[in-house]
Amino acid sequence: MSALLQADGLYKAFGDKPVLQGVSLALDAHDVVAVIGASGSGKSTLLRCLNLLEPIDDGQILLGGVDISDPRVDANRVRARFGIVFQSYNLFPHLSVLDNVTLASRVVKRVPRRAADAHGLALLDRVGLADKAREHPDRLSGGQQQRVAIARALATDPEVLLLDEVTSALDPELVGEVLELVRQLAEEGATILMATHEMAFARDVAHRVVFLDGGRIVEEGSPAEVFGAAREQRTREFLARFTA
Ligand code: ADP
Ligand code: MG
Repeated sequence: MSALLQADGLYKAFGDKPVLQGVSLALDAHDVVAVIGASGSGKSTLLRCLNLLEPIDDGQILLGGVDISDPRVDANRVRARFGIVFQSYNLFPHLSVLDNVTLASRVVKRVPRRAADAHGLALLDRVGLADKAREHPDRLSGGQQQRVAIARALATDPEVLLLDEVTSALDPELVGEVLELVRQLAEEGATILMATHEMAFARDVAHRVVFLDGGRIVEEGSPAEVFGAAREQRTREFLARFTA
């Protein structure tokens, strides 16, 4: 069985600055993998390269066994197979919550509005925000907006969910509701690759933890291995900053 998502030897530089230096990673269906690492270590770039928001300089990305890093693939169609949620929710302020959730389905997948709305309402219900469907995003709290962003990411029935520090921009009291939603998605069997600074959450929810340092994976293992018995000095130093 080949992995659902497999990255082999990814290299990426911005100008002459190397950011990913040979990253290889594989996720099977239903895997929940946390990427941890200092700011600037390349977490966001890795996630953005995987769903073709950034071109890679070298390496290969396979989704369902198919090479999506081949320049001949239709990047928009590939991107619709991923759901991505960023630190800042990036909702469209002039659209209702429901229209934010359904936009990609209607435009990219050409789902008729009635069907897209029904699906969108079901997703909003799932994230506990059905009653906000007709509101504009600015009427919602940061935690609610991030739950809308997650509903939006789920709207195209993605095969892999990429979560990039989805709680980092939230006030502390709003972090819990978003993490709880991610936990539910993980329990329901979603395939998730998440960059996070929420170490307790990663330890609790992730099946596997990857420590990225200077664009290289220097350690990878179960949460118990990485958090409890890191082999690498750099991992231990990084984690010490969170438990101090
Ligand atoms: P992380 O998410 O781990 O904080 P990033 O992937 O955002 O790390 O960034 C890794 C490095 O790449 C940083 O040095 C950052 O400044 C640089 N970088 C990221 N995006 C760009 C870009 N679009 N142009 C130039 N440099 C970038
Ligand atoms: Mg980042």
